[in-house]
Order: sequence, then C-alpha cells, then structure tokens
Amino acid sequence: MTTSLVLFKKQLLALGFSFEENKVLSSLCTWGVGGEADVFLPVVDEKQLGVVLRLAKEAEIPVTILGGGCNVLIVDEGVRGVVLAMKIGLWDEEEFENHFMLRLGAGVMTPRLSMWGKKHGVHDLELFSKIPGTLGGAIFGNAGAWGYAVSDYIVEVVAYDFEGNRHVFSQTQCGFVYRSSMFKQCSNFVIAEAVLSIPKQNKLSKEVVEEKARYRDSQQPIGRSAGSVFKNPEGGFAGKLIEEAGCKGLQIGQARVSDQHANFFLNLGGAKAADFLQLIREVKKRVKEKGGVELVEEVRFLGGGLFYEI
Ligand SMILES: Cc1cc2nc3c(=O)[nH]c(=O)nc-3n(C[C@H](O)[C@H](O)[C@H](O)COP(=O)(O)OP(=O)(O)OC[C@H]3O[C@@H](n4cnc5c(N)ncnc54)[C@H](O)[C@@H]3O)c2cc1C
Repeated sequence: MTTSLVLFKKQLLALGFSFEENKVLSSLCTWGVGGEADVFLPVVDEKQLGVVLRLAKEAEIPVTILGGGCNVLIVDEGVRGVVLAMKIGLWDEEEFENHFMLRLGAGVMTPRLSMWGKKHGVHDLELFSKIPGTLGGAIFGNAGAWGYAVSDYIVEVVAYDFEGNRHVFSQTQCGFVYRSSMFKQCSNFVIAEAVLSIPKQNKLSKEVVEEKARYRDSQQPIGRSAGSVFKNPEGGFAGKLIEEAGCKGLQIGQARVSDQHANFFLNLGGAKAADFLQLIREVKKRVKEKGGVELVEEVRFLGGGLFYEI
C-alpha cells in the first residue's frame, strides 16, 4: 500500500468520514462483475464531496465516481484509489403556476422522479421508471428514452472539479447531446446536484406513455444487464446491426448477447468482467466486418482509478 493512501485514509478518519477498505464492487453494479476498491466512500453531501476531492488531489489518489452502477463495467482487477459512491439525496421542490422547480442531489434515484410525476400529474416523467440509476449518472450520459432525455428538464448543474472547486453550469454549458454531455466528454467533474424545471403540461398523453411502457417491457430481456451496451449509430440501431452480424446469442464464459434484444448483454451467473470485455470486442469486430459500422460503447469502463480503454 502506498504511503499516500495511508495518509489519505488517516485524514478521512480524522474528519470523521466513514469508508470501507478493499470493498467488493460487483454487488454495486447491475452486471454483477468487478474487483475491489482500495477505498470506498459514500458521499452524502456537497461539502463532503469538496473536502474529499481536495484531499485526494493533495495525496495524488485516483478518484472514480460510481452512481447506481447501471451503466458501467468494473474490471476484474478492481479500482485503485478511492471510489466515491454518490449518495447526495437532497430533494427540494417549489411549485409555480405552470411548472415545478426541483433541486435534487446527484444521488437521487431516477425512478423516484417518475413516482413523483405520478403524484403530481406529470406522467411524461414515466420514462424515468425505465432508466435505473442516479440523477448524476443520468446527467453524465444524458439518459433518456422515447425521444426524450434528462437534458429536457435541466436548468443548471452543480459540479466539482477534481481539485474540489465548485462550479455551476447552465443547461447550454452542459453540452448535452445524444447519450452524452460535457461531463462525459471531459470526465473532469463530479456532478453534485441539479435544478430541474418540470412543466405541468404533459407532452405525451397518458395512453401513449402507457403503451410505450408496455412495449418496452415486452422488448427488454429479464436478467443482469447494463442496459444498452452500445449507442445507436446515426440513423440506425445498434441492436439491429448486432443481430445482422449474427451475434444474437453469442456467449463468452457466462456473458451472453441477449437472444431477445441484441444490444443487451446478460450475466447468466458467474460471468467475469473479462468475459464482457471479450464479448464487446468480438461484437464490435463482427459488426465492423459485416457493414463497416464502428459501434461506440454507451457503457463506461471503470478500473485502475482511470477510465479503462477497450
Ligand atoms: C435494465 C436497464 C435499462 C436501461 N435503460 C436505459 C434507457 O432506456 N435509457 C438510458 O439512457 N439508459 C438506460 N440504462 C442505462 C442506465 O440506466 C443509465 O445510463 C443511467 O443513467 C446510469 O446511471 P448510474 O447512476 O447507474 O450511473 P453509473 O452506471 O454508476 O455510472 C455511469 C457513468 O457515469 C459516471 N457518473 C455517475 N454519477 C456521476 C456523478 N455524480 N458525477 C460524475 N460522473 C458520474 C460514472 O463515473 C460512469 O462513468 C439502462 C440500464 C439498465 C440496467
């Protein structure tokens, strides 16, 4: 163990922050794979986030951010340094004539938004019941469905750089595009909270929303997945390309391309991260050979304290 890690842990203890050492991460991601984190620290408020980031920077400890673990592949070798589990659960709301303003912590689970929407007559938010994870993770990857995304509701985002400085970004500054944002592009910030404006007027009828939800449930495989592995390429569907390349049902170890929806890869039980990495490489290769399309991962690879390049 490096002396800087020992010092870092001493400082955390002195400040009364609780953390776990050699924490097994596989139970914290939907794929159920991955090694251990040297230090695992749940972050419950903004102030704590700023302090921990500053300490980690001073001690030169790599920092990795984990939300709900619904869109990540954590490598078998585990994560060096500190994993910050985003648990900021702030929830403030204010009602106006035509909309609600919500100030929410990055650790708020997105399906809670759909439950809140149901209670307040905003059934448009039902899409969030189908997108597991935290608000921070959703903003990072601009999660969405049915042609809508979290960016449609964002007013501003509070994020910290890795030196522990606080920044406020307007919706435009967040650089949202399909399944990405400035935060994902540069990986230089930790999202702490966000302000959302929720119109009272729904864009979709209740019947349309119910139909979309039913259709989606019928299309999605049951089992341990991380949602869509690849982004849809412009003008096409990753799942269709994977199927056309003959990869449906392709299996490496206990990791398998779903027979139902080819952009979902399943852990049949006991898969390793290495199996998923190999499966991802193989599918990319076959899709490229078949039609020349270079698929781009939607899932993120976490490990070694750095984003893992496949
Ligand atoms: C069954 C299933 C269905 C899904 N359906 C959809 C869908 O319809 N649409 C869709 O868009 N996605 C879908 N997903 C993927 C997933 O739900 C989303 O990507 C979700 O937003 C991930 O959030 P998370 O908190 O789990 O992020 P994580 O998986 O924990 O992290 C994802 C990335 O975000 C980063 N991150 C997380 N929180 C923060 C933060 N606070 N600050 C900075 N970086 C952060 C992490 O470092 C990582 O790089 C699905 C997943 C599953 C398992």
